[in-house]
Amino acid sequence: MKASVKIFELFGISIRVHILFFLLPLFVFYSLLIQFNDYVYGLRGVLLILLVFCCVTFHELCHSLQARHFGVKVDQIILLPIGGVAAMQSIPDEPGEEFKISIAGPLFNITLALVLFLPLYFILGRENLFDPGLESWPQTFAYAFWINPILAIFNLLPAFPMDGGRVLRSFLARKMDYAKATRIAVGFGHTFAVLFGFLGLLSTPPNIILVIIAFFIFIAASQEGMQVELRFTLGKFLVKDVLPEQFISVTSLTPLSEVLAFTLHSHQEDFPVVDKGKLVGLLTRADVFSAMHRFGIQALVQDVMRRDFPTVGLNEPLIKAQRLMEQWQIKAIVVLNQQKVAGVVSLEDLSRIYLLMSNKR
Ligand SMILES: [Zn+2]
Repeated sequence: MKASVKIFELFGISIRVHILFFLLPLFVFYSLLIQFNDYVYGLRGVLLILLVFCCVTFHELCHSLQARHFGVKVDQIILLPIGGVAAMQSIPDEPGEEFKISIAGPLFNITLALVLFLPLYFILGRENLFDPGLESWPQTFAYAFWINPILAIFNLLPAFPMDGGRVLRSFLARKMDYAKATRIAVGFGHTFAVLFGFLGLLSTPPNIILVIIAFFIFIAASQEGMQVELRFTLGKFLVKDVLPEQFISVTSLTPLSEVLAFTLHSHQEDFPVVDKGKLVGLLTRADVFSAMHRFGIQALVQDVMRRDFPTVGLNEPLIKAQRLMEQWQIKAIVVLNQQKVAGVVSLEDLSRIYLLMSNKR
């Protein structure tokens, strides 16, 4: 995310703060100053935000370390004014792993609260611990302490894709197929989002943060639901099921002008480059157009083709083709059948089959 600043690194994971997050202490300081006409209240408010920031960071860090334990790449944690997000490559489909990754964050807050309870009881005193607020410094620390159980409980609500929603899916996915489990979890996510939205709007004064959280939950639940549907649908097919019957290949000495003619007169936009029966390159539509601008129409395929690209086997699952295209950020992939080029599958072929299957349901 561009609008964020890296503040430090922990266990090789960079902790970044969204620029909007910097506005939060200023906003809190200013509004407390006006409300109490005493800058010390403002300072206590800022301390509270810093302490909560630490609790949220460690919460996200626990998710991240657990995810990394299962081989998921996590490079950064971004803190937004409404909470933290660990940027994970993907959440494992395996229910046990998703459960452990999701529970790790809330478990941190619960453990911290249990560990700190007795020491704070003696240091802050009983009255202060049970009367959190901004009236004194000990009460401010008590406030930060109680944020932990609240964070844990809030995150454990089954509002998918919040932690509790993931825990719910991992339980459901043990009993039914993953796509169905996700559909139910997404339903929970949407219901809670609407509920949070109403709660936020109806409270006096309106709780804008809760409304924004509701909005994010709704969108994130829909997006994740759609991704799983796509993977589920593609998972039922093999590459050969969608492979177009005819395809055009070019050689490394074909001029771009000829390739351009192919893209205009056929439905194919991405071409395997084959020399003497051997696959040597790939030329995508985007490559053709950018090369024409740079080198002109007389350039040869060998000057502009990709030499480093993935391939997929004819009898391999279609989902593998989709994953490779996503990883390599290309819109087409060459299909091989026993080392020989069998054709090209494009992103359009995948979306066509996806649309066809979702209309059937
Ligand atoms: Zn969490």
